[in-house]
Amino acid sequence: MSNASIVLDLLKKKDKPLTAYEILEELTPIGITAPTTIYRALDKLVSKGLIHKIGSLNAWTVCCGPHKNIIPIFEICKTCGNVTEHLDKNLTKNINILSRRTGFMADDPIFEIHGQCQQCN
Ligand SMILES: [Zn+2]
Ligand SMILES: [Zn+2]
Repeated sequence: MSNASIVLDLLKKKDKPLTAYEILEELTPIGITAPTTIYRALDKLVSKGLIHKIGSLNAWTVCCGPHKNIIPIFEICKTCGNVTEHLDKNLTKNINILSRRTGFMADDPIFEIHGQCQQCN
């Protein structure tokens, strides 16, 4: 099994995003001890669209499913730490219109909204 699929399996088992350090801690017992190994696996999974990096948490989470060309929105609960991925075609369309108008080249945009989930508010 490749390091990337080991990391993917671990992220699938957790219901919260994990930092590279947390991933390293989980995988040290099976002999993965180099942070560069973790980062390389994470980069590979991100470029395949299998996971997302939540920049504001500096953590990674599994993608909800293939959504080529649709920008994901993450609702991040500050109380329970729950992170939910949503897809919104209209939002994506509007961002694309904006980018066309301004000539901005967005690389893989992700929206991160912090607040409280339904269970916590
Ligand atoms: Zn996704
Ligand atoms: Zn919550």
